[in-house]
Amino acid sequence: MIVLNKRVEELKPSGIREFFELVLGMKEVISLGVGEPDFTTPWNIRERAIFSLEEGYTSYTSNKGLFSLRKAISSYLEKYYDLSYDPETEILVTVGVSQAFDLAIRALVNERDKVLIFEPFYVAYPAISFLQGAQNLFLKLEEPDFKIKPKKLYEVLKKNKPKIIILNYPSNPTGVSYTKEELKELWRVIKKFDCVVISDEIYDRLSYDFIHTPFPKVGSAKKRTVYMSGFSKNFAMTGFRIGFVAAPSKIIEAMTKIHQYSMLCAPITSQMAALEALEKGEKELELMKKEYKRRRELVVEFLNEIGLKTTKPNGAFYCFSNIEVSRLKSVEFAKRLLLEKKVAVVPGIAFGDFDNFIRITYAQKIDTLKEALNRIKEFLSSL
Ligand code: PLP
Repeated sequence: MIVLNKRVEELKPSGIREFFELVLGMKEVISLGVGEPDFTTPWNIRERAIFSLEEGYTSYTSNKGLFSLRKAISSYLEKYYDLSYDPETEILVTVGVSQAFDLAIRALVNERDKVLIFEPFYVAYPAISFLQGAQNLFLKLEEPDFKIKPKKLYEVLKKNKPKIIILNYPSNPTGVSYTKEELKELWRVIKKFDCVVISDEIYDRLSYDFIHTPFPKVGSAKKRTVYMSGFSKNFAMTGFRIGFVAAPSKIIEAMTKIHQYSMLCAPITSQMAALEALEKGEKELELMKKEYKRRRELVVEFLNEIGLKTTKPNGAFYCFSNIEVSRLKSVEFAKRLLLEKKVAVVPGIAFGDFDNFIRITYAQKIDTLKEALNRIKEFLSSL
């Protein structure tokens, strides 16, 4: 008899699995579902990857990643955020932020440790944390702004004393982000407690309304923060699978120990491409960002006009829209929209207790977005 790991067996399948199986079987669907840039990776980045292969770079790298890349990450953090991390001991190159998050949880969490997750959440957080044996705690964020409120946070921390707090801004799925002042308020609360912050800032450069402040830049938070970001979204490099972590050396060493046994290193071709992105990717990044911002204006305004209440996202490329007006629950809404109008969105329940919401990704061409929005409008009128 095959006996699986108990936790893997217990892990609930993603609420959207059934739904996406439907999408796969259909033709001519406009997908506002997956969280992925519609842009192809900028040419100079692809070319650098190709050239590195031509030059014969096909080997393993140092476990922590190419030193040249770690140095470039360190300089980048210094230049953009005035953050200082030692490339020898405080930076680790990973296979996407996905692996960075997995390693951070594995390095820090013991069985039954409490991990605080804000809801709506990026789907991987509770799953990875659960697999490690953590006790997940949830704090639900609410309309109209979906922001963490310092007073509520204080109450939850005081009552539960979690070991880990997971932050994610700009957020997937709401796009909501925090100003430096707001982050300071959060840190004023968090610092009273003995916990580590894992801050997933993968959408940091796609911030449209104010300058992004990384959590380690806030007060004295750096010494207790595991900061992670990557290349998938900022530089449209999802398929390269490359991310990084910057954290106190004790945590980086622990994460590297797991990484060297489980992954060895991130692929060298992708590391070369990432180096190019940091050295010469800014212009393209700014162009993509400008385009996302233009799309955001269009989509948010349209959705609110047709009665799907949508908080204006400050970053990333998602809208989290309230569908109460339809009187449908999120899976039913998404299924019918797909079958009747061939538009795919993600039901809110995928992100926690949000059955009155859908997530719409606006990483699509303006004309495609306009067509999809018109179809959503028609769908609502038909109900
Ligand atoms: N973190 C967040 C908040 C995300 O939205 C995603 C992808 O959608 C990831 C991490 C995973 O990113 P990566 O491609 O770097 O593994």
